[in-house]
Amino acid sequence: MLIQVLTLFPEMFTGVFESSILGKAQQKQLVRLEAINFRAYATSKHQTVDDTPYGGGGGMVLKPEPIFAAVDDLTARSSHKPRVVLMCPQGAPFTQQKALEWTEEQHLIFICGHYEGYDERIREHLVTDECSIGDYVLTGGELPAMVVIDSVVRLLPGVLGNQMSAHSDSFSDGLLEYPQYTRPQQYRGWPVPDILLSGHHEHVNRWRRQQSLLRTLERRPELLVNIALTDEEKKWLEQVIQTRNQ
Ligand code: SAM
Repeated sequence: MLIQVLTLFPEMFTGVFESSILGKAQQKQLVRLEAINFRAYATSKHQTVDDTPYGGGGGMVLKPEPIFAAVDDLTARSSHKPRVVLMCPQGAPFTQQKALEWTEEQHLIFICGHYEGYDERIREHLVTDECSIGDYVLTGGELPAMVVIDSVVRLLPGVLGNQMSAHSDSFSDGLLEYPQYTRPQQYRGWPVPDILLSGHHEHVNRWRRQQSLLRTLERRPELLVNIALTDEEKKWLEQVIQTRNQ
């Protein structure tokens, strides 16, 4: 997979792309990550990338020409049709499901804005997706792009070793993850639940599934609507809810 980020601040990506799982994924040649300054595609004397908005008002707007030229160039040099993702707070909310979907792509291009916004023609005629990481506004698209890239790359086959598995992560099966414990067995008088020490895998798995359901019920009940529950689980959850309402 090739992931390219169009940004005015490529240096922000250096540490993130070289460290931890992203760094290892590149060493294993499972992904290639590039941060590219789209100012290099500006043809004016001062390599201007922004201008004041038509109609007045504060802030600067990113001009279409350098961003179109950059995407056209990267697309022409690619052997796959890229997905072109505009990072913006008005985009579709990013989810674990979307991260999984994007692992199927061969080539992703992320566009990071800065300043007030983008010329609307970028949105209308250049990109395939608009993506938001949440209902808040950051200074630029760099941090959001890093968030999205990290969550996609860690799902690529071969990226996570055995010691770190993504399949039980929160949201992977639609639920929040169950509680985890490690040594010591007692800490400040707080014990690890007996069932985790029992060595009985079937019981441990059932407990984990129930804890996931419980945690999701407590923290994100709206997620339960999309979960396929067994009859036994439905009964158990109903009992839990009844007991809590007593
Ligand atoms: N004026 C814009 C608006 O109200 O939609 C916000 C511009 S913001 C200051 C500058 C850039 O940061 C955006 O173009 C986008 O690339 C990025 N950005 C800010 N918040 C974001 C979010 N929640 N998700 C994704 N990108 C975001």
